[in-house]
Amino acid sequence: MNREVWGLLTSQPPEIESLKIVKFYPSEGYKPKILAITGGKGGTGKTTIAVNLAFYFSRAGKKVLLTDCDVDAPSVATLLGAKIGDGEEVNQFLPIFDENRCISCGKCSEACRMHAILQVPGKTPLLFPELCLGCGACSLVCPADAVLEGKKVVGWIYEAEAYGIDLLIGELKLNERESEAVIKEVKEKGMRLSEERGYDLIIVDTAPGAHCDVALSLKESDFVLAVTEPTPFGIHDLDLILELASLLKLKHGVVVNRADLPGDHKLLKEVCEKHSSKLMGKIPVDDKVVESHVRSRPLLLDFPESKASRAIIKLAKELWRELSL
Ligand code: SF4
Ligand code: SF4
Repeated sequence: MNREVWGLLTSQPPEIESLKIVKFYPSEGYKPKILAITGGKGGTGKTTIAVNLAFYFSRAGKKVLLTDCDVDAPSVATLLGAKIGDGEEVNQFLPIFDENRCISCGKCSEACRMHAILQVPGKTPLLFPELCLGCGACSLVCPADAVLEGKKVVGWIYEAEAYGIDLLIGELKLNERESEAVIKEVKEKGMRLSEERGYDLIIVDTAPGAHCDVALSLKESDFVLAVTEPTPFGIHDLDLILELASLLKLKHGVVVNRADLPGDHKLLKEVCEKHSSKLMGKIPVDDKVVESHVRSRPLLLDFPESKASRAIIKLAKELWRELSL
């Protein structure tokens, strides 16, 4: 391995405490670079890549925030063996009907597209909180100011740190569907922390798929890295995620993980060309990846000379140039 890279990987990270107490004064126009790591298909290894890229950039002297926007199944903290404390609640609007003001007109029930309000004639409406999406339409249409502001917890945000990387993890409450509220809060909090601490780079680990949550996570990114496999499902879903990134007018590139799995590399190349997406690297199958998961430690830390580590370092250098870090 290149001696310089070896040095970066093995040197001690800066003292975490000192990172916390240094006050950052943003200069005019300050904006951290934002790198989104996504992948149409689940299980392509995007979180492994996100975690190890964060580790690489942090060891190379950059101030890195790694955000976990896969709020249904966050795994960044687990892969890094990070301890997380009590989370900060993410709340959502929940209507409370004031029976003293309500005139039982039924307008709130008509306006609710989620059918979360049952209007029995002559009575105060009945709410099914589990169906409510917190849109506030019922409050807007009420002619009697009878819809008061309540709230329900839909998830949590956790702050943590590992190996000099700051982590921000979103988690959706079990049986809640409003992941958007949690993702939005993770992104907003990430930007607020950045104003305080002056991150060079924010890495966003998104959920798999190409749905609204992923679109929300990708927005405002300087670069989208799509992680795929050469399998038919992998290529099919890559097509969708690149389509989404193009619709959002975001720059994007592709990395093929487990690149030596049987698959159709010609078709994969065609999909990249169709979306003018650069093929930025190929990461081979490597047992050391699984071993690093079992240890809950970065692959690049424990196995810097492994095949997968070498490929990730190469990818990181490409991204470094792409993001002008
Ligand atoms: S906030 Fe929206 S979803 Fe919830 S009850 Fe009111 S109208 Fe329905
Ligand atoms: S819209 Fe307002 S007044 Fe009408 S039923 Fe709903 S809460 Fe009552």
